[in-house]
Amino acid sequence: MPALAEGVARFRRDVFPAKAELYARLATHHDPHALFIGCSDARVVPELLTGAEPGDLFVIRTAGNLVPAHGLAADGVAASIEYAVAVLGVRSIVVCGHSACGAMTALAEGHDLGGAPAVAAWLRHADASRARAANDGGVPALVRENVRAQLANLATHPSVARALAAGEVALHGWVFDIAAGRVEDLTGADDGEGPATPQPRRADRRPTPHPGP
Ligand SMILES: [Zn+2]
Repeated sequence: MPALAEGVARFRRDVFPAKAELYARLATHHDPHALFIGCSDARVVPELLTGAEPGDLFVIRTAGNLVPAHGLAADGVAASIEYAVAVLGVRSIVVCGHSACGAMTALAEGHDLGGAPAVAAWLRHADASRARAANDGGVPALVRENVRAQLANLATHPSVARALAAGEVALHGWVFDIAAGRVEDLTGADDGEGPATPQPRRADRRPTPHPGP
């Protein structure tokens, strides 16, 4: 905890003053241009690897960057997706997997999750990912197929389906290689310069401030 408190003090002292103007605007405006769905893994830091500023990304992080398909039960991930797409009007949604993912490793290598029943239950949302991945592809293949499977799950959410049908949102699948510091775009042409540039936010949504959540 001391490290976190020191970090807050450092933010107040070194970071906030330099961004005071930005934060003054953000106090009354919340208009991120992209929804970033990544793994909870501490090594995958969305703002750092995309060069994003505060206010740029609406972020959901789950173990294994899993996105449960649309269902009728109350679901925090679904609520966050709907808020980002239907209320904030993000133009891009990225599902980002990563190398050495603990969740994907547990699945690919058949780890015993008897001592972590909630994890085991949550990872059932990757059943389709496992079905898609070749048995001999190991963790890297599962990471990639999992991103594709979660993009498919994402598209089952009504807000996303509606935005896709209207051409108002684009979906991207990325894999972040921790050792190389490189992002591979599974959904677009890879020109070696990194993933496709997220589109600017919808102009018609921009003037409306959204302070939450
Ligand atoms: Zn992970």
